[in-house]
Amino acid sequence: MSNKERRFPLSLSSVVDHGKSARSTKVAMPQTAVQNAANHQKNQVGKSSHSSKFFGVATSAAGANGAHLPVTDGSKKSNPSISADVMVSDKIRKAMVDRVAQQGVQDSVVLAAMEAIPRHLFIESGLSSQAYIDASLPIGHHQTISQPYIVARMIEIMRNGKKLNRVLEIGTGCGYQAAVLSLVAKDVYSIERIKALHELAKENLRPMRIPNIRLHYGDGMLGMPQIAPFDGIILAAAGMEVPNALLEQLEIGGRLIAPVGGRNQVLQLIERVGQKEWKSAVLEQCHFVPLHQGVI
Ligand code: SAH
Repeated sequence: MSNKERRFPLSLSSVVDHGKSARSTKVAMPQTAVQNAANHQKNQVGKSSHSSKFFGVATSAAGANGAHLPVTDGSKKSNPSISADVMVSDKIRKAMVDRVAQQGVQDSVVLAAMEAIPRHLFIESGLSSQAYIDASLPIGHHQTISQPYIVARMIEIMRNGKKLNRVLEIGTGCGYQAAVLSLVAKDVYSIERIKALHELAKENLRPMRIPNIRLHYGDGMLGMPQIAPFDGIILAAAGMEVPNALLEQLEIGGRLIAPVGGRNQVLQLIERVGQKEWKSAVLEQCHFVPLHQGVI
């Protein structure tokens, strides 16, 4: 990455106008994400009203930290049934969070953050009716927005019941997880290596006017030494191992959570316990898109 390409810090506010138990879980790869969504919908036929449309949503939600988060979607057409849609989306999102809790996520701060962030606004309108199903979905460029359960679980593990100060996310994608993180951490830094997705995340987050997210276009494997140390680092893409640069950028006492592996992946939790000492634990199975070097 050249210095020219570096666009940091990019403050969103500057561009806007504005289970505890180990379990086995599956997250779809990009090529299976659409299929996943289709299968889920098949299973849901006759069960629920999940297929309502989400246009012109304008809502607000109290964040996990009590902050009021205005969430408007000015880019989409206004619709006379706007308040009905808002209520429907709130209800469906609540159902998604209930499901995530049933799957074992217990951290109420994380669950509240998941309930506050409108996932459907991060997904292209053709798929927004599937925004609250328990599956990853395509976001273009062969990448996916992660399954709600795994987003919640990873943040729960990283948080460990503590207040997070400075968090680094590798793999911004559509910006959804960064938005959830913004409600559980004081400052969120998120890196994306695909320029078009970096731009998409900016576009998705702009109307939400979230002041504590900084988006960076670059290679997340290098981290952000200029901002480090972080008390939490979360990877949304799987490498064969966690890059050393990221381990070095973890604060002592900080936690890094990452999917690791190729075909068979596991969530790995790494805690920095001393200047030169890290402790690692393998948690549940998972399935993420690969971590790649460099930018495109
Ligand atoms: N957190 C995202 C999930 C995106 S999928 C969301 O909420 O939508 C994982 C993302 O990691 C992809 O967008 C991919 O381009 C990105 N990625 C892979 N390797 C990367 C790297 N070295 N640096 C930064 N981003 C990377």
